[in-house]
Amino acid sequence: MIEDTIAAIATPLGEGGIAVIRVSGPEAIRVAASAFRSKTKLTDAGTHTVQYGHVIDPANGEKIEEALATVMRAPRSYTAEDVVEISCHGGIVSVKKVLDVLLDAGARLAEPGEFTKRAFLNGRIDLTQAEAVIDLIRSKSDRAFSIALKQADGVLSRKVKTLRHTLVETMAHIEVNIDYPEHDVEELTNAFIRDKCAGVLAEIEELLRTAEQGKLLREGIETAIVGKPNVGKSSLLNSLAQDDRAIVTDIPGTTRDVIEEYVTVGGIPLKLLDTAGIRETSDVVERIGVERSKGAIASADLILFVVNGNEPLSGEEISLLDELADRQTIVIVNKSDLATKIEMEALYERLPAERIVRLSAREGEGLERLEKAIGALFFSGAVESSDLTYVSNVRHIHLLKKAKGSLLEAIDGVAAQMPIDMVQIDVRNAWEHLGEMIGDAVSDSLIDQIFSQFCLGK
Ligand code: GDP
Repeated sequence: MIEDTIAAIATPLGEGGIAVIRVSGPEAIRVAASAFRSKTKLTDAGTHTVQYGHVIDPANGEKIEEALATVMRAPRSYTAEDVVEISCHGGIVSVKKVLDVLLDAGARLAEPGEFTKRAFLNGRIDLTQAEAVIDLIRSKSDRAFSIALKQADGVLSRKVKTLRHTLVETMAHIEVNIDYPEHDVEELTNAFIRDKCAGVLAEIEELLRTAEQGKLLREGIETAIVGKPNVGKSSLLNSLAQDDRAIVTDIPGTTRDVIEEYVTVGGIPLKLLDTAGIRETSDVVERIGVERSKGAIASADLILFVVNGNEPLSGEEISLLDELADRQTIVIVNKSDLATKIEMEALYERLPAERIVRLSAREGEGLERLEKAIGALFFSGAVESSDLTYVSNVRHIHLLKKAKGSLLEAIDGVAAQMPIDMVQIDVRNAWEHLGEMIGDAVSDSLIDQIFSQFCLGK
């Protein structure tokens, strides 16, 4: 049982129109009421109602802030506990003052992710759903967001629960057989176990298959844009960015600031590598832009090799083309608005046609062909998994692989006519690995580790 009441600022710190301070726990309404004066006392307010009033210092009755308080009574709240959310003026001082009086009134400062952790501990959501909340907050493209939303809604956990149910049935079947070992049912039982395990195995493999795509959709395809100076790399970058506003995130590092830049092409997020390099080298004409991007090329999932369609290929471009042909490379023949002077046949000799895209970065013409080419390269054409159950979490992938291993052993065991109680152990292991995925029997330290990834107030 959770007994203490927690409070935290739920909105980002800084100046804003409003800020929200959230209180949750058995004493949430009493704590908030002691620091809030309104026409209807919060303790008398109905669930899911909003009260206008003032945050006051309980010590002297002094008004601290004008605010709205939303009361949500258990279990119909984010944490499944009594929750009060106080919306006050955004601003570092006012928000901190409000938080301070709530802490004085008996709440404890929440740890990062503690509200979501409570939703999990109180059984309102399971672990895959809680983890999806982190993904929701961090998602960088519409598609990643919809996938996380689906997962938060429990699509993945329902699938995992169904698989576990099948395994329980199988174990029950084995149990009966252990207790009443009759020779003539043995063969039937073996066939039953094999079929059930193979069925679950197939579904796990299908989930794992989406994992790689899920990762790309969630974290973005690491993309290097390369090519010699003046072929139009930065123009391409700009037209991609305009097409779908670029998201730039600053990650303050210890020695230097790393800038991650994302663009989405047809709903697929591209995480652009070394864009600073592109912008720098465009001024230095004699510098071969390619040298600069060697690092980016090495780590990229996707290489966009830009060439100028209005001039013949250089020797260096041809050798780079040979080097990159085995990689996930798309050659962009830019400046399609000008006359074609490039030797197209030299390109077709080296790469399949679907990986050669003609476009005009400056006119923004032909970008949809680039979308198609990327889609074909990474998603075999179909970008969308029909039901959006992409597994993208590393922990989930690891557990699915373990469950898969156990099922393979169970199936082998049946084939090798191992004693049935040995097979039973493998089936049980698979069932447990899947259980760990949704938070059935996970250790406290794992729970702490998962929730510590959250931001404060979530
Ligand atoms: P970078 O050095 O590879 O980044 O090349 P830039 O993007 O700076 O482009 C070099 C020059 O080519 C600029 O003058 C651009 O305006 C021009 N350019 C880029 N893309 C196109 C295009 O599609 N058509 C035409 N006609 N010019 C382009």
